[in-house]
Amino acid sequence: MQRPYNFSAGPAAIPEEVLQRAAAEMLDWHGSGLGVMEMSHRGKEFVAIYEQAEADLRDLLAVPPEFKILFMQGGGIAENAIVPLNLSRAGTVDFVVTGSWSQKSRKEAHKYAAEVHTAASSEDGGFTTIPTPASWQLSRGASYVHICSNETIHGTEFQELPDLKALGSDAPLVIDFSSHVASRPVDWSRVGLAFGGAQKNIGPAGLTIVIVRGDLLGHALPICPSAFDYKIVADNHSAYNTPPTWGIYMAGLTFQWLKAQREGDATGVAAMELRNIAKAQLLYDFIDQSSFYVNKVAHHCRSRMNIPFLLQDDARNDAFLAGARERGLLQLKGHKSVGGMRASIYNAMPLAGVQALIDYMHDFERQHA
Ligand SMILES: *Cc1c(COP(=O)(O)O)cnc(C)c1O
Repeated sequence: MQRPYNFSAGPAAIPEEVLQRAAAEMLDWHGSGLGVMEMSHRGKEFVAIYEQAEADLRDLLAVPPEFKILFMQGGGIAENAIVPLNLSRAGTVDFVVTGSWSQKSRKEAHKYAAEVHTAASSEDGGFTTIPTPASWQLSRGASYVHICSNETIHGTEFQELPDLKALGSDAPLVIDFSSHVASRPVDWSRVGLAFGGAQKNIGPAGLTIVIVRGDLLGHALPICPSAFDYKIVADNHSAYNTPPTWGIYMAGLTFQWLKAQREGDATGVAAMELRNIAKAQLLYDFIDQSSFYVNKVAHHCRSRMNIPFLLQDDARNDAFLAGARERGLLQLKGHKSVGGMRASIYNAMPLAGVQALIDYMHDFERQHA
């Protein structure tokens, strides 16, 4: 029996092999007599799971040794507060607003940063593009610059991270990479901190991944809760409070799955990137040649992960979604702020799923055009 294809933006599809393995180990992890959810987070079994997950993530994303990897809770939205609590140093923070998520982050930062400055925004154009970094109005001496490197709702993605030094800024770059983590390599020479919720591309909701350069730790505001102080979390190997043990275990299984993926000579994240380019290209090419469907995002910044598209006639949306469900193509409804449809095609979505969606879109167009 084949499972349906799940195009949800998040919580999203998890590779079937990962789910099978978790199911097989549910009652008894490696002969311990315990399921992972029942283990002490300080026992040797769980510490082994945690250490392996951290090492595999470091390896997969080629995270340099000067960066700490933290496993936290609260999701991307909590990080909107936790980042300024730790990094703003009661100074000015810069935001580049390219969609709903960076907009939300900017709003939350007002509570903690002395000043919030918008260095660039694509709001006027309906968030269909990313302003070129050369046009950003960065402030002098900012504590950090925040971007959302993949906007899950509007479907824009930075194809290259900005080089802040080349733009005359010494501020660390903060990226919200919730919805494209592990889909492509990260240029850590340009990053101070990256955060992401796990539920898009890594595992179950409840786990947040933070990767932060060591020199940025230890400057939290006095009001920062201890459990959210990056230095305290790092010094305690993410176990100052009880970490989301199940989420870390599931993420670890996904990391092992990722390490085993191959495309030609490429493995791991490099292999995923090739696959993600091919999947996105196939869908965008189909949408662009059609006069029945449209994606309005500028070509240079189209997301490989989240592809919003509109039907020319909104009145057909319900019929489109119902027909899709019948074919085992689930969760294609677009976000309410954008309307239409959205296909989220994260790492766990195979090329065959994208092809099945295109076949359906083609048939629906023939019936209704
Ligand atoms: C989903 C998402 C979030 C929010 O994550 P929560 O786990 O709901 O807090 C933040 N940023 C981006 C880019 C996302 O896609």
